[in-house]
Amino acid sequence: MATVLYSDIFLKHNLPSHPENAERLKSFMKTVSQFPLKVLESEPVNMKLLEKIHDKRYISKVKSASMAGFDYLDPDTYVNEYSFKAAVFAAGACEKGVELIKEGEKSVLCAARPPGHHAEFNRAMGFCLFNNIVVAAIKALKIGFKKIFIVDFDAHHGNGTQHLIENYPQIFYFSTHQFPFYPGTGSIKENNFHIHNIPLPSGSGDETFIPIYTETLPEIVHSFSPEILLISAGFDFHTLDPLTGLNVSDKGTEIVIKSVFKIAKTENIPILLTLEGGYNLRVLEKAGEILFGELSSFQEDMLQQKQ
Ligand SMILES: [Zn+2]
Repeated sequence: MATVLYSDIFLKHNLPSHPENAERLKSFMKTVSQFPLKVLESEPVNMKLLEKIHDKRYISKVKSASMAGFDYLDPDTYVNEYSFKAAVFAAGACEKGVELIKEGEKSVLCAARPPGHHAEFNRAMGFCLFNNIVVAAIKALKIGFKKIFIVDFDAHHGNGTQHLIENYPQIFYFSTHQFPFYPGTGSIKENNFHIHNIPLPSGSGDETFIPIYTETLPEIVHSFSPEILLISAGFDFHTLDPLTGLNVSDKGTEIVIKSVFKIAKTENIPILLTLEGGYNLRVLEKAGEILFGELSSFQEDMLQQKQ
């Protein structure tokens, strides 16, 4: 049975007036009990693993700022007394998710926050403290996966992810994002044999977004031939999102989610997803529902495919 990794600690990193608040995850998780999924408690990330990704001094800085109470680590990124623990458990969900996959699980969702893809080696950015998807990627390398493919469909470029995997040619980073836009990175000039950015102008919509996921991405994944697919799943590309302007519809959202599962099925590889952005609660609820459905049927489809 497919697994969702979750912890109530994710709800305690919270600032109700901030777009990245606990209600997001509550909305996302609203329908989970309607699906045949195992919901497991996340665990703290191994500190040695986290120190392979982030500067030790930065990790201590996040911890001490959080322990001291409420603070901002950059103009957008708050911490409260629970934030360090939440971030350690969010990164831990990605670590544990990869372990479960190694043990035979085919599809895992980390229903975690704070998000991660903007977090740099020694800097919090854009609501992110630790880079959860990179934790998954480095853990996967460590336990024997030889090639890893990260898809980041959040409306913002995952600057942290791209920078942190730069020196790992075995890890591919693919991102679609609004451009020019926050955080400013992600132009095609940064592309190389294992980094593929597709910057998109504001207002792109389904017409541009859908074929990238149904036509372009499957070919790129196939030619890299990874052993595992990791997804930075941000839902701020939706037309109702208050922060962005990519204007993807409900239908487009469904197609994008289904496409990444379809790619994993076609390539016959496991898939792990972790929640990134997305700031409209209805969109998050609907995205959760579609994702849980795909997650539940994934294992079964893989088995049928083999017969
Ligand atoms: Zn985003």
